[in-house]
Amino acid sequence: MVIEIKNADIGGREGVLDIEGMKIKTPDYLPNQKDINVLKNSPFVSSTNFPNVDVGTYIHWLNLQTLTSISGSSKKYNDTKNYLKSRLKLMTDSGVKRKLLHFEFDKSVPTLSGQKLDVLFQLQDDVGADVIEIPNLFSTDEYKKVLDRASEWRRFKGIEKELMGIANEGSDVKILKDKNNTISCIGVNLKRENSPLLFAIKNYLKQEDIWVHAFSVPRSYRAVKWKGTLGVLLNYYGIDTISAKTAHPKSSRNYMFQIESKTEEEKSEQSQDSKYFNPIDYSTLKCKNMNTDLELSKFCNCPVCRNNTVSTVVQDFDTANANIRSHELFAYKSESHNYQDKIKQNASDGYFNSKKYAKEIAVRFRV
Ligand SMILES: [Zn+2]
Repeated sequence: MVIEIKNADIGGREGVLDIEGMKIKTPDYLPNQKDINVLKNSPFVSSTNFPNVDVGTYIHWLNLQTLTSISGSSKKYNDTKNYLKSRLKLMTDSGVKRKLLHFEFDKSVPTLSGQKLDVLFQLQDDVGADVIEIPNLFSTDEYKKVLDRASEWRRFKGIEKELMGIANEGSDVKILKDKNNTISCIGVNLKRENSPLLFAIKNYLKQEDIWVHAFSVPRSYRAVKWKGTLGVLLNYYGIDTISAKTAHPKSSRNYMFQIESKTEEEKSEQSQDSKYFNPIDYSTLKCKNMNTDLELSKFCNCPVCRNNTVSTVVQDFDTANANIRSHELFAYKSESHNYQDKIKQNASDGYFNSKKYAKEIAVRFRV
C-alpha cells in the first residue's frame, strides 16, 4: 500500500504516503524542477531556511519528433536518458529523495503505440523515477488495455515500483478504481478546470486507500477570473498531493526572447503583474492591485514574506518571480499542515469555507 489514510472528515482526508520507504504526511505540495529553481534564485531563501522537498516531480515535455527518435534509436534514447539523469541529479542535490517523472505531450502527439509506451516505462525506470507513470493519450476503453500492458511489462521486467495510472476525464477514474489490484496510485491531469473529473474523484476515490496526485494544478482559476485558487485545498475532493505545471519549452524560449527586448519600464510593469497567493483568503491578486505598502508578514510568515512589503517583493525584476513563487511553495506547504490539523480535529469543512476564493471556486464547480 502506498498511502494510508489516517483520518477523513467531510472536508478532506489526511494520511501518510510511503514511496519506497520515504514517508510524508498528506495533503502536501510536491515541488517540481521549476520550484527548486526559484528557491535557488530567491535572495530570501538559503540553505538555512530551505523547505523540505523530500518528494518532487520532474515534468518532461515530449513532441512527436523526439518521441519517435527515442523509440527508434538507442543513441537518442541514451541521450535523453542521460539528460534526464543530469536534471534529476540537480533535484537530488537540493534534497529531493523520491521522484516522479511526469510526461506532458504537445499537440503533435495524438496517441501512443505499444512500443512507445514500453520505451516511456523503461525511460522512467532507467532514470530512477520511483513510481512508473502510465501515460494516457487514449480513449477510456483503450486505456483499460494499456493498464494491463503496463502491468505485464512490470511483471516481465521484474520491477517492483508502483504503477501510476493517469486520469484525464471522470470516466478514466472509474476504470482506474476497478484496477486497484495493480494500480495503487492515480495521477489526475488538472490542466483544464474539469469539474466532472473532480466529481468522479470525490465520489469514487475519496473513500479508497489509493494515492491521488494532481499534476498541472492551476496557480489561479478561470472560474473566479484568475483572482483566486484552491491550492492544496484540492484535498477537499480527495486529492492527496499536488504539483504545478511547467510551461511548454517553446513558450519558455519565446518568453526569454521577449524579455531581451523589454524596456526597464515594461519589466517593472511585468513584475507588478505577478500574482501573490494570499493564504488568508486564497486570493491570487496582482501585486499592482494590492496596497503596495502592506507588509506581507500580515499574511504569511515564510522567509520571503517576513522581509517584504507588496512593493519590495517584486521591485527587482530579476528576482520578482523567484520571490513570488518561493513564497507560494512555502505557503502551500504550511497550508498543507494546517489542513492536516483541521482534518484531525474534524474541522476541515469550516476551514475550507473560511477561504473565500477557494469556497467561491467550489460553488462555481458545483462539486
Ligand atoms: Zn510567504
